Amino acid sequence: MKIYISADMEGISGVTNPDFLQPNEPNYEYGRRLMEHDVNAVIEAAIESGATEIVVADSHASGNNLRLDRLHPSATLVAGFPRDHYMMSGLTSDFSAVLFVGYHARHGMPGVLSHSYWFKNMTVNGMEVGEIGFNAIYAGLLGVPLALVTGDDHASEETKLIAPQAVTGIVKHALSRTSAICLSMEQSGILLSAKTKEAMERINDLVPFPINFPVEVRIEFFHSGQAELASSVSGVRRIPNSTIVEYKADDARTYYRTMEIMATLANTARFF
Ligand SMILES: [Zn+2]
Repeated sequence: MKIYISADMEGISGVTNPDFLQPNEPNYEYGRRLMEHDVNAVIEAAIESGATEIVVADSHASGNNLRLDRLHPSATLVAGFPRDHYMMSGLTSDFSAVLFVGYHARHGMPGVLSHSYWFKNMTVNGMEVGEIGFNAIYAGLLGVPLALVTGDDHASEETKLIAPQAVTGIVKHALSRTSAICLSMEQSGILLSAKTKEAMERINDLVPFPINFPVEVRIEFFHSGQAELASSVSGVRRIPNSTIVEYKADDARTYYRTMEIMATLANTARFF
C-alpha cells in the first residue's frame, strides 16, 4: 500500500510564528526538528498500519526543510524547488491515500499562520478553498482520497468542510494568527500516531473528492500587478476591474500547474 505525505510547516507542533519558517529566522533549525518529529511520527504509524511504500513531499517554501539523515529510513523524500505540482509532486493514481502533515487554515481565516499560497482567495467550482482544499481536490482528480490532516484546530475545521471523512490531528489550538496552546512533543507524537492509525484503518472506506472536469478555478490576488502578470498565462482570464483571474482545467495537470505558475508570478510582483 503506497501512502503519499505532503508536509508543510505552519501547522507543525510548536510552530507559532514566522520565526520558525525560514532559514534566516531565529527558530528555523528548531522548527525543522519539530517538523521532522511530526512527519516521522506519521510515517512510523503508517508503516505499523500496513503502508509498504511512503513518499514524503517537503512542501514548505524551498522544499529543503526535512533533513534526509533525520527522516524515517523507510520513506522516500521529494525535496527542493521548483518542481511540477509542488506540494503534491510525485503523487500518482496508484497511491492509496494522501496525508497532509503540518497544514494550516486558508487566508483570512483564524488559525496559526493562515494563508493560501500567495493569494487572497481561491475558489474551485465556486467553493472557497485554501491549500488543504486545493490539494485535496487535486488528489481527488487523480482518484486518491485524503485520509489525514494534522495542524491546528482551524485546519481541522476547514478539513471537515472539504473532506468530512478525513481524520484530523490537532497538535495546537490557535490563540491568534501567531500564537497557540501547543501539545508537548511527547503528547503530539502519541496523538499523531493514534490519528494516523485511525486514518489508515479507514482507507478502504474513503472516497476521493467528488469532482469532474472541467474544473473552474478563480484566484483573487492582493494587488492588480499580480493579476496583470497572472492573466498573461495561457488560458487565464482576468475579471475586468478586479484582482481576480479565472481558468478552466480539463485535466489534473492544468488544474495544478496553472495555479502554481500564477503563485510564482504573484510572488515576483512588487507592490511598492
Ligand atoms: Zn508552508
